[in-house]
Parts: sequence; C-alpha cells; structure tokens
Amino acid sequence: MTGSPPGLQPDIAVSRCTGCGRCVAVCPDHVLWLEVDAGRKHARLHTPAACSGCRRCAPACPFGAIRMRRVAAAAAQESPDASTGSGR
Ligand code: SF4
Ligand code: SF4
Repeated sequence: MTGSPPGLQPDIAVSRCTGCGRCVAVCPDHVLWLEVDAGRKHARLHTPAACSGCRRCAPACPFGAIRMRRVAAAAAQESPDASTGSGR
C-alpha cells in the first residue's frame, strides 16, 4: 500500500555470524532460526513478513553481525522468499 511507513528488518552478515543463537533466543516473534549452510551454522530471518522490527536481535549479537535496515512495509509482506536472499 502506498503511504505505509517503512519497517525495519535485520540484515544478517553470515560471514560474521557464529551461530551462537542469541538473536534467535531474544526474538519475540520467532522469525529467526539457525540453519547450517556448507557446514557452518548461522542465523536466518525465515519469515520476514512476520518480523515486527522490534530491533532486539541487533544489540543481542555479540559479533556485530546484525544491522537493521529499512524496508517498505508492503514489500516486506508480499514476498517473503525474495527477502531471504537479501542478506548482503
Ligand atoms: S527485529 Fe525483532 S521481530 Fe524482527 S527478527 Fe529482530 S528480534 Fe525478531
Ligand atoms: S547473535 Fe549474532 S552471531 Fe549469534 S546467531 Fe545471531 S547473528 Fe549469529
């Protein structure tokens, strides 16, 4: 919808992520999870549309792997799988 305020979502730098799980533990919406890719565990935002943008995950990361980025609220809701590849 036009006029929707921009939301915030975590952008996870996989290269910095150690897979410690702290961000997953603090996420009240349960939209983060850990997955293994090429033998390395890392966090992933699996349901971007359900992320409330509360920002708890970013300060919870001791390795500075999470930055919040602004996304259009409508875009965040309409294509969850497009957003899963946007971690760069
Ligand atoms: S911003 Fe909040 S709801 Fe979104 S992934 Fe981070 S902790 Fe979860
Ligand atoms: S808190 Fe940081 S290092 Fe730990 S799993 Fe989350 S993004 Fe990765």
